[in-house]
Amino acid sequence: MSANKVRVRFAPSPTGPLHIGGVRTALYNYLFTKKHGGDFILRIEDTDSNRFVPGAEDYIIESFSWLGLTFDEGPHIGGNYGPYRQSERKDIYKKYVDILLEKNAAYIAFDTPEELEAKRNEIPNYQYDASTRGQMRNSLTLSKEEVKSLIEQGHQYVVRFKIEPDKDIVVNDLIRGEVVINSSVLDDKVIYKSADQLPTYHLANIVDDHLMEITHVIRGEEWLPSAPLHVSIYKAFGWEDTMPRFAHLPLLLKPEGNGKLSKRDGDRLGFPVFPLEWKDPKTGDVSTGYRESGYLPDAVLNFLALLGWNPGNDHEIMPMSEMIESFSLERCSKSGAKFDYEKGKWFNHQYIQMKPNSEIAELFKPYLLEKGIKAENSLVEKVVGLVKERVSFVRELWEQASFFFVAPDNYDEKSVKKRWKDDSPQQMVELIEVLNGIKDFSAHNQEQIVMGWIQSKGYSVGVVMNAFRLAIVGESKGPHMFDITEIIGKEETIRRLNRAIADIKK
Ligand code: GLU
Repeated sequence: MSANKVRVRFAPSPTGPLHIGGVRTALYNYLFTKKHGGDFILRIEDTDSNRFVPGAEDYIIESFSWLGLTFDEGPHIGGNYGPYRQSERKDIYKKYVDILLEKNAAYIAFDTPEELEAKRNEIPNYQYDASTRGQMRNSLTLSKEEVKSLIEQGHQYVVRFKIEPDKDIVVNDLIRGEVVINSSVLDDKVIYKSADQLPTYHLANIVDDHLMEITHVIRGEEWLPSAPLHVSIYKAFGWEDTMPRFAHLPLLLKPEGNGKLSKRDGDRLGFPVFPLEWKDPKTGDVSTGYRESGYLPDAVLNFLALLGWNPGNDHEIMPMSEMIESFSLERCSKSGAKFDYEKGKWFNHQYIQMKPNSEIAELFKPYLLEKGIKAENSLVEKVVGLVKERVSFVRELWEQASFFFVAPDNYDEKSVKKRWKDDSPQQMVELIEVLNGIKDFSAHNQEQIVMGWIQSKGYSVGVVMNAFRLAIVGESKGPHMFDITEIIGKEETIRRLNRAIADIKK
């Protein structure tokens, strides 16, 4: 345990699928800690049993495994600072609640939900704080004996953290600089509930960050309002010296308009907001994920890295090693980052071009199998190499490459009108003869011979080749003609030509 080792944690609450914003938070933690040779810890914050969703933890772990962000410690792999699931750390927290009670930094409150509701109705903008706690039923207003007897009688209570009013609380944020808040705006937050004998988020989060020797808390902007309370709790424990540095990341904003990116934006505009497909265990609703939508994990990470951070040069496509090398919290922006999903597609397109054809072919094979096509790896790889520049997603390869595997079952009407001339049937009959005579059916050799024939006949290259393409592909698209015919082979090429001659009617 080196005193200076950077240690960061990603601390999701398992209340549903991981949002893409959470993935970005985890990524920034990862980039930061790897840059400094530190540790990356997964901690599951599951103290709120009402919001617990079964399957969410596994989902989170599977998401990161798909993305290739590897934790050094966590509930699934263990580590020296475990357990890493807060629900398994109950006994630890109780001790720290008692310390705050002893130090008079917290107090016990018995107010029932009805009593609290009544107060809210009585006092406008009511909050439980220095100005109102004197009117409530708590260990500050009741005698020691009363408190003891209420507990013994089994009355439920909560422990609240006592905020001293009218103090400036300073949060030194690595992205936002010094944020000063007057403590009077804060309320006395509940930090423990006797009902389930569990601390709330605020206490568990801080105790764990302390015990797990977390050096930097890098999290979403939505937690910034909690930071002054957190700083106060660190102070109450006397842990200022080892308090982690805070960095609150900018929000991910809707692609258009204002506000936070939501699942509804994704549904409306047709892009995923979750890393993996998620089936809601209650409603059965299925939401698609980046994985299922055909994104490559590296492309997703690269895309997310630049939503709120810039490397200070014009690099966009960056391998993980470069992102780690150039990452710094100082270069994270304070203002929200618009979620430009078109850019996400662009990244995916770029990554498909960069990846070896063999890797993309592996991903394409399930789509081929779905169509009942079992093809040799070498063939699939060749095809991928020829058409991948036209796609942004692996699944789009079928649309661009189906004719390599199956003959067209009809001919595109527009192309027929434009490309199938009166001479075409006769020219195709001649072409069949020319092709038939070719022994070496490589693209290069075919091209030389066919072009020679076209020239000798004085035909138009365009007219012949367009009709040829229509016969082989079924429409006017696709890569270089002779690359296609080399792959499908002589026999199939001639078969398709014959069929076109017989079937294409103007
Ligand atoms: N459990 C909190 C969450 O769900 C953690 C916030 C933090 O990182 O402190 O995001």
